Amino acid sequence: MTTTKAELYDVLLKLRDTYENKLEQMEAARILDTPGTGYTNHQADDATMVFDQTADESALRAVKTRLRQIKEAVAKHDAGTYGTCENCGREIDIARLEAIPYTPLCLNCAETRDYNAGM
Ligand SMILES: [Zn+2]
Repeated sequence: MTTTKAELYDVLLKLRDTYENKLEQMEAARILDTPGTGYTNHQADDATMVFDQTADESALRAVKTRLRQIKEAVAKHDAGTYGTCENCGREIDIARLEAIPYTPLCLNCAETRDYNAGM
């Protein structure tokens, strides 16, 4: 049985909820335990905190990026252009959308982009 775009829309809405919750939790956790740097006398402690904050930042950025992609996919669904490649305008393979419902690119364009990015 093939998944329909309508079914993928439900998947996207659920993903959006999941990532919005995740983002809220991460931002709440960050506010609670932002230690601030420079207040301790131990350089090693400061270094650890900076490292933790950096890790938090990149994880937070990853979640924000994913959430943005999901929201864009939902918006496209509403506009009736969901499943169309942003780069070449061709239909994105439904199997690819099943695997990555928020992808804006068809497999060809994604591979070209990854290749160009040196991945
Ligand atoms: Zn394409």
